[in-house]
Amino acid sequence: MRAIRVRPAWLLPVLLLAIRPAAGLPVSGAPGPGAPAPAPEPPAQASAAPDAATSGARAFDTLYADLRDTGLVTQPDQAAIDRRLAALATLVPPGDVVRQLRSRALHCDWGHDDDPKAQLADADAGLAAALAARNAEAEANFHYCRAAALEILDNATAVMQEYEAGIAAARRAGDNRLVADGLSLRGGRRSLLGDQARAIPDLLAAQQLYQRGGFRSDAEALLLDIAISYRRMGDNAKALDYLQQNEAFATRLGDHGQLTTNLLQQGYLAEDDGRIDDALALYRRALEIARDHGSDYDTASIHLAMAWPAILRKDHARALRLLAAAQQGFEEIGDHANDDMLALRRGQAYAGLGRHAQALAEYALAASALERSGNRRYLALLYRARAASEGATGRKDAAIADLERYIELRESIRRAESSQQAQLLRYQFDADRRDLENRRLERERALRERQLQALLQARRWQWTAIALASVLLLLLGALVVRTLVRMRRLGEMAATDPLTGVANRRGIEQLGNEAVASARMMRQPLCALVIDVDHFKRVNDNHGHPCGDQVLARIAHACRDALRHIDLFGRHGGEEFLVLLPDTRLAYAWPVAERLRNAVAALSFEDIAPGLGVTVSIGMAQLRADDAGLRELVARADAALYRAKANGRDRIEAED
Ligand code: GH3
Ligand code: MG
Ligand code: MG
Repeated sequence: MRAIRVRPAWLLPVLLLAIRPAAGLPVSGAPGPGAPAPAPEPPAQASAAPDAATSGARAFDTLYADLRDTGLVTQPDQAAIDRRLAALATLVPPGDVVRQLRSRALHCDWGHDDDPKAQLADADAGLAAALAARNAEAEANFHYCRAAALEILDNATAVMQEYEAGIAAARRAGDNRLVADGLSLRGGRRSLLGDQARAIPDLLAAQQLYQRGGFRSDAEALLLDIAISYRRMGDNAKALDYLQQNEAFATRLGDHGQLTTNLLQQGYLAEDDGRIDDALALYRRALEIARDHGSDYDTASIHLAMAWPAILRKDHARALRLLAAAQQGFEEIGDHANDDMLALRRGQAYAGLGRHAQALAEYALAASALERSGNRRYLALLYRARAASEGATGRKDAAIADLERYIELRESIRRAESSQQAQLLRYQFDADRRDLENRRLERERALRERQLQALLQARRWQWTAIALASVLLLLLGALVVRTLVRMRRLGEMAATDPLTGVANRRGIEQLGNEAVASARMMRQPLCALVIDVDHFKRVNDNHGHPCGDQVLARIAHACRDALRHIDLFGRHGGEEFLVLLPDTRLAYAWPVAERLRNAVAALSFEDIAPGLGVTVSIGMAQLRADDAGLRELVARADAALYRAKANGRDRIEAED
C-alpha cells in the first residue's frame, strides 16, 4: 500500500478514517499487477533554450502546478511518481532556492513510499532549509510533510502540532491554497479523532478557499472528506449530498480510487437507511470499477462490504464466500487491518446459519481487535451480535451483559453524535454570526467609503462650480467694465464737439441745465456769456474752410484755458460758444468776459494764416428768478450779443 500523502487532501481520511469496514480503504493506483504506463515527459525538459533560466523556470512552474494538482495522484505506481519527481528536480533553475524548495517539498510528500522514517528525516532537513531561506511557503510544506510521516508513526499529538505550525506558516506566506491544504489535513485529523464538530468547519473552510482560489479538483475532492465527517456525526442526509457532488467530480476526473471510496460510502449510507438493494447496487458498481483497474485492495474492501447485505438477506453461504474472497485479497497484499471486521462479519454469517459456537469464536477474535482499536461503532455491533449467539447457546447472563454494553454504547454514541451536531451548529452559528458581523462591518465601511467619495466628488464639483462661477464673474465684470467704458465713451462722444474737443451744444446745454438747477437750489447767482466770432465768414472766405476749423479750435482752447475749473464751456453753434459762470454775479462776469475777449484777440495764426487776427463779441446775462430755464438766460445773453455786434463788434455787452 502506498504511504500517506499530504495531498490531495481526500487521501488522508480515505486512508486513515476507518469508517467501515474497519481500518483502511482503497487508495487510488495502489501498486498492482497492471503494467504501469510510462510517465509522460515533462514539457520543456528537452528544449534547452539560450534563455534557459526563464524557460526553465516556466517549464518547472508548469510541471509543478500539474504535479501539485492531479499529476501525481493519477500515476499508476511509485516508479512513475518517482520519474515525475525526478523530472521536476532537473527543471529547477540553478541557484533558484524557492523552486528548489518546492521540488524538495513535493518529493518529501510523495517520494517516500512506505518509509515514514526517511520521510521524517527528509522533512526535517527541508524545514531547516526553509527556515534558513526564510521561506514561509516551504516551511508550511515541510510541516505538512512531517505531519504525514508522523501519522504513519502514530504520533497523534505531534501530528496536530505540525498542522498548526504549517497553517500558521501558510498564513504568513499569504498562500490561501497552502492554508486550505493545512485546514483540510487538520480537519481530516480531527475527524479521525472523532471531533467532527471541529473537523467540519476546517474542511468547509478549506473547501471554500480551494473553490475561491480556482483549485476545483482540490475543492471537489474535499467533498468526500466532508461527507465522511457528516456521516460519522450521524448526519446522513448531508453526507449523501456531499457524496453525490463528489461522485460527479470523481467520475469526471476518472479517479477510480476516489470513485470506489465514494461508492462504498454511499453504500454504507444506504445500509444505514435500510436500503439494502441500493447498497448492493452501489457495491456492485464499485466492484466493477475496482476489477477494471486491477485494484486488489479495493476489490477486497468491496467484498467485505458486500457481506453485510448478503447476511441481511439471509444468504449466509454467499456472505461467507464473499468474506473468504475478501480475506484472501487482503492477505495477498499483506493487509491485516481489516481482520477484526472480517471476523465480526463471519461471526454474523455463522450465527445466521445457526452455528453459534463458530460465531462466538469469530466474535472473540473480533472483540480483542476492536477493544484494542476502540472503534465504538463496531464494538456496539459486536456486542449486539454476540448477545444473540450467547442467548441462543443458553449463556443468558453473558447475553444480558453484552446487551447492556450494547445499549450503553449505542446511547453513548448517540449522545456523542448529537452533542457534536449541537457543537457544530454552535460553531457554525458563531461563524455565521462572525460572518454576518463582518459583512455588516464591510457594508458599513463600503457605505462610508461611498459617502466619502460622494463628498469628495461634491467638493470637487463645488470647487469646479466656484472656479467656473469666478471665471464667469470675471468675464461678466470685464464685459460690464468694457460696456461702461464704451457707454461712457459713447456718452462723451455724444456730448463732445469733435472739432474743438469741448462740449457740443447738447453737452453744454445739459451742463447748463444742471448749473441752473444747482444755482437755484444753492441760491447762488449764475451768469451766461455768449461768444460769437466776428466776421468769421471772412476767415473762411479768405483762408479756406480748413483754416477756419483750426481757428475755431484755437479760440475754443484759448477760452477754456482762460476759465476756472468750475466754469462751464461749450460750442453752442457754428462759430458761437456758450460760457456759464456758476456763483458769479454779472458784475464779476465782466472781467471774465474781458479776459476771454483779450485771450482770443491775443491769438496768433501766423503759422496757418499770416496776418490774420480774430476778435469776438460777447453778450452777457444773469439768471433771474423768473427765468423758466437756461433757454431764457441764453436768449437774454444773445440779445446782449446782438447789441455788441450792432455796436461795432470786438466788445462786451450785458443785458439791461
Ligand atoms: P458776424 O460778425 O456778424 O458774426 O459775421 P459772421 O461772418 O461771423 O457771421 P455769419 O453768421 O454770417 O457767418 C458765420 C459763418 O461761420 C458762416 C459759416 O460758414 C461759418 N462757419 C460756421 N461753422 C463753421 C465751421 O465749423 N467751420 C468753418 N470753417 N466755418 C464755419
Ligand atoms: Mg454767428
Ligand atoms: Mg460771427
